[in-house]
Amino acid sequence: MPAFEHLPDGLITEGSRGIYTVTLEGESLRCTIRGRLRKELVYGQGTSTRRNVRDVRVREKDPVAVGDRVRVSRVAPGQGVIEEVLARTTGAITRGDPDPGHEALTSVAGIDQVVIVFAARNPAPHLRMLDRFLVMTESQRLPALICLNKADLGVPDYIEEQLEVYRRIGYQVLQVSATRADGLDALKAATAHQVSAFVGPSGVGKSSLLNLLAPDLGQRVSEVSAASHKGRHTTTGARLFPLAGGGYVADTAGIRALALGAGSVERLDMCFREFAPYLGTCRYDDCVHLDEPGCAVRDAARGGAIDQGRYESYRKLKRDGLSDA
Ligand code: GDP
Ligand code: ZN
Repeated sequence: MPAFEHLPDGLITEGSRGIYTVTLEGESLRCTIRGRLRKELVYGQGTSTRRNVRDVRVREKDPVAVGDRVRVSRVAPGQGVIEEVLARTTGAITRGDPDPGHEALTSVAGIDQVVIVFAARNPAPHLRMLDRFLVMTESQRLPALICLNKADLGVPDYIEEQLEVYRRIGYQVLQVSATRADGLDALKAATAHQVSAFVGPSGVGKSSLLNLLAPDLGQRVSEVSAASHKGRHTTTGARLFPLAGGGYVADTAGIRALALGAGSVERLDMCFREFAPYLGTCRYDDCVHLDEPGCAVRDAARGGAIDQGRYESYRKLKRDGLSDA
């Protein structure tokens, strides 16, 4: 078994199906991957009992994901071979397999944080959807940053009050304006030296913000939209773009629905961080905090210690599931 510790490690910023771009020691290398690694990934992880031929094929095509850290040997100027995939330490953003019952496909691995973007107006923020995004990040133990864009249009009082709720429970909330370039320094600081993914409903200004933070990405967005205006079909794989302030942003344009594992989390109540002091104090040990008598979580929501809207989000997600909103 050869050891690869002496090889430098880099970050996969682009590519799929055998050809990848790896940023390594400040240089972009065009890389292939050892067949041995594919085999390991195809046959070596018996985590799912539902794995079948189709899953294996998917894995064989994409043994690594954008955002994975890898060790590479250089084989020619500008070229390398991926020898080893380093263990994923941070979160992976997954895209649901259109075929239910299959494991979600990993689109971007190694995400350090998720920036959840909403607009102050046009469209008005949908806080229950924000809660759904937060459940996604909490369930994957990913730090989340809430970013309210279009602050130039004026932030309604009720939104200010709601944002306070999120600040109180420990989320960082930034107010920015892409058109006026307001608040960008704070957003740059919060995304420096990290791999961030921007998520949020369409029309809230994600592309506008990314254009300001990552000029290369802006270039690609306009190329893609020019191509689609000409009626050409463009496929957009996941890709990491360097940020002006260091760090990377994942281009999540291709990730339409953010899957929550297989569409559910085992402990939804643990994904609402402000519930923590009450968990384990309900009358029944198996309380799911809906209509059980003596539920400490529901009592806290009634008494105002837990925000009523957040508790409503919990009830809705508990009853209806997470796969759609
Ligand atoms: P995305 O769908 O989230 O990527 O949103 P876009 O970046 O495409 O922006 C949607 C629309 O909102 C565009 O017409 C933008 O010009 C506009 N927009 C984006 N950011 C701002 C902002 O900060 N203020 C205002 N007033 N409009 C914005
Ligand atoms: Zn309870």
